Amino acid sequence: MQKSFSPIVECDAIDCAYNKNRQCHTHAITVGDEEPCCDTFYCARHKGGIQDVIGGVGACKVEDCVYNKSLECTAKSIHIVMNMGHPDCGTYKKVQS
Ligand code: SF4
Ligand code: SF4
Repeated sequence: MQKSFSPIVECDAIDCAYNKNRQCHTHAITVGDEEPCCDTFYCARHKGGIQDVIGGVGACKVEDCVYNKSLECTAKSIHIVMNMGHPDCGTYKKVQS
């Protein structure tokens, strides 16, 4: 059975065009690559996205996260947090070597 996207339960990047009330409203984001940043973050003059949609992780390039399998996210859900001025996946957990 096809697994659905890992949903983004909260996003602190309130300046992002897809963010309304700390919810992401685009279908799928891309995370990474070297850092677990939200690559879909975009500042625009107007808000975008689709109000009825709650975003999920479409693809993740952060291979050293325990939740990353074949460049896809397997976490039940994720949070996006602000880190040094940019949005990062707060659910990222580094694989222990
Ligand atoms: S998860 Fe990414 S695209 Fe969605 S609102 Fe947050 S920063 Fe924007
Ligand atoms: S939890 Fe890990 S695999 Fe999932 S989006 Fe965040 S960094 Fe990528």
